[in-house]
Amino acid sequence: MNPLPLLSTPCANASAAGESHTGSRCPGCQSRASTEGHGQSQCATRPAPRTTPAIPSAPIHFDARLLGRYDVNGPRYTSYPTALQFRDDFDASDYARAAAQSKRTGKPLSLYVHVPFCDTVCFYCACTKVVTNNRAHADAYVERLHAEISRQASLLGAGRALAQMHWGGGTPTFLSLEQIASLIDAISRQFIMTPDESAEYAIEIDPRSAGPASIRALRALGFNRLSIGVQDFDPRVQEAIHRVQPRALVEATLDAARNCGFRSVNFDLIYGLPHQTPESFSNTLDAVIEMAPERLSVFSYAHLPQQFKMQRCLPDALPDGPQKLALLQTIIARLSAAGYVYIGMDHFARPDDELARAQAAGTLHRNFQGYSTRADCDLVGVGMSAIGRVGDCYAQNAKTLKTYYEAIDAGGLAITRGVQLDEDDHIRREVISRLMCHMSLNFASIEQAHDIDFIAYFASELGELADLAADGLVAIDAHGLRILPAGRLLVRVVAQVFDRYRRSATNTRCAKVM
Ligand code: SF4
Repeated sequence: MNPLPLLSTPCANASAAGESHTGSRCPGCQSRASTEGHGQSQCATRPAPRTTPAIPSAPIHFDARLLGRYDVNGPRYTSYPTALQFRDDFDASDYARAAAQSKRTGKPLSLYVHVPFCDTVCFYCACTKVVTNNRAHADAYVERLHAEISRQASLLGAGRALAQMHWGGGTPTFLSLEQIASLIDAISRQFIMTPDESAEYAIEIDPRSAGPASIRALRALGFNRLSIGVQDFDPRVQEAIHRVQPRALVEATLDAARNCGFRSVNFDLIYGLPHQTPESFSNTLDAVIEMAPERLSVFSYAHLPQQFKMQRCLPDALPDGPQKLALLQTIIARLSAAGYVYIGMDHFARPDDELARAQAAGTLHRNFQGYSTRADCDLVGVGMSAIGRVGDCYAQNAKTLKTYYEAIDAGGLAITRGVQLDEDDHIRREVISRLMCHMSLNFASIEQAHDIDFIAYFASELGELADLAADGLVAIDAHGLRILPAGRLLVRVVAQVFDRYRRSATNTRCAKVM
């Protein structure tokens, strides 16, 4: 396929490099330097430090043959280590130690609130949810959330600023507005809600259950970002996935959000669903571009019916591998032509949106919600199955309502598994995060942060990257690594090379990277 004239985002993070590094072989020499002219492939000693671009300035090269060849199973790296490495012997006492560590820093926090209920099921869904239309469930759940928020605050230190908040699910708007208001009240008594201009308080909503009046009420409660699950506007696709929501409904929600001052609206889209073709999805993209949401999350549908039984209800009309690639190519071309900036690996944003500006400034972060503009603050997760990242650990709550309720009713937290990072995990997390966010890596910055010799420490990984470099996916020199246009869509494959756990059997539970 032809190269796409996609990204022309200038590198605004060029100053990320610049420090010298010391040590062993030049990876450019040992990695059969790529054809993309990164230079330095003949060096025998390390030349003077120079800048490694942090934001790709070249177009994406869409090579179906290469994309097909590297379409392996792999994590999305919203965390490292990933949830697959969480251990069952990690418990609330381990979390309490991490929370005490966090409390000493006094840094602002990010809060994730998980509401697992949905009153109807989408057949493609792979989320942790409880499908019910019995609203009585919400009362019992909200009661436990109140208890959990208060216990978390006493561990983490009440009165800490809340720089970011995200409500996800499930369907957060399964709760009544009164229930949401009571929780916001509890949160604001335990933490300091920051001013509207500097806070990022987001909520995922289902336009089928949250009309314009609800949108206005959510804004009045302090939410300033909205995420709407759209997936596709094609009625045939909507019927196949059991999620019928006409365009007019989404438009009314969007209008309400804009009229009452939501700062940014995100649409979730999915490609790879039944009946989708590049032509049919172009119509959806026409509508999306016309509505002009500030952000878009565009996910590849992962068909894993063995793991997610509901997916067996989908009709047997799924696009195959080449058709999915054609869909992706259409999406990237259309959204880029409409002026959206491609963020990381699955987001798009208007150039004036904070996310695009963060990417340009090199301050983009990756977390469980995808990409984030906020500094790397500790993330507190509340609710069934919620994951937090506090101090030097990740921790996850009980994954069923019964076990979550039992744990909270016993007077403690509901943490049932997690992982404490060792020094190697910290180093690799930073490497992977920089690749996922900036598409490049400056060795000196990792060396300085972790007191290692990058080339010696990652000698085997750099050797492994030689094949990817030979295929033109990455360029490596003595100072850093850069994802090339042909590797832009395969950043997870590059990141995976630095994943110590990638060969564990659990990785086969991940979806394909494309
Ligand atoms: S996709 Fe979202 S709304 Fe649909 S069933 Fe899953 S969690 Fe619920």
